[in-house]
Amino acid sequence: MTLPTFRFAPSPNGALHLGHACSALLNARLASQTGGRMLLRIEDIDTTRCTPEFEAAIYRDLEWLGIRWEMPVRRQSEHFADYREALDRLIAEGLVYPAFMSRGEIRAFIAQSGKKWPHDPDGAPLYPPADKALSERERKRRMAEGAPFAWRLDVAAALDRIGNSLYWEEFTDETLTATHRIEAEPQSWGDVIVARKEVPTSYHLAVVVDDAIQGVSHVVRGRDLYLATSVQRLLQELLGLPAPRYLHHRLILGPDGRKLSKSFRDTGLAALREAGVTPAQIAARIDM
Ligand code: GLU
Repeated sequence: MTLPTFRFAPSPNGALHLGHACSALLNARLASQTGGRMLLRIEDIDTTRCTPEFEAAIYRDLEWLGIRWEMPVRRQSEHFADYREALDRLIAEGLVYPAFMSRGEIRAFIAQSGKKWPHDPDGAPLYPPADKALSERERKRRMAEGAPFAWRLDVAAALDRIGNSLYWEEFTDETLTATHRIEAEPQSWGDVIVARKEVPTSYHLAVVVDDAIQGVSHVVRGRDLYLATSVQRLLQELLGLPAPRYLHHRLILGPDGRKLSKSFRDTGLAALREAGVTPAQIAARIDM
């Protein structure tokens, strides 16, 4: 029998705050209650923003909270070959295309269209269809010239490929006793980036590849990633990866009612620790 497998997957591009504590403590508690495994994954594909100092601080903060995890820790920056393999499959199957437009060119394209342009759930305009229509020859020519590009998922082709409606199973609450089916709507994000010219992955691709390789059965993370699940389910289907079940937990909000960010000094775990706050007080403050 395979054990329920949970993971906490922070990016070492800033200091952990109360929101991270909530996620990490919830994963650890559910792993322990179900007799399952607790994994820690360091999501450091963005080598320009992630630092060894932030990574070391993650271990310190989690240990201080009393969280234990299996070793070795999977660090995404050590597994680009795994993501490359998944990307190559998507390329070979014609499900991704090189997208050459800069932000400025996207803006200009949209302005010229004179249309009311759709935006993704984060408020960014959907990627224009122009590059999808380029001939193979033109793509090769631009790539050979060294033009900057990103690999984008052709969402229409991807949905055609799977042919069915796409769902995920979301737990109704932290007891993990029941789930309900949520219809995935990856088209709301348009043709998302799945890799960059120099980096053979994006957040979405690395997450689905890693969750599969690590045998993650329960993805427990904040509600800020709820809508990202649509894209990740689509990639899982395209790559033939198993679908974990999901629990998107409430977010810890700042005093101003807004989502916490890594730059909020007063809710950073290290800052709270230095101010004499105890792990028990942290757990009480986030109602864990
Ligand atoms: N690395 C992501 C973050 O720090 C979380 C990824 C996930 O839980 O799927 O927001």
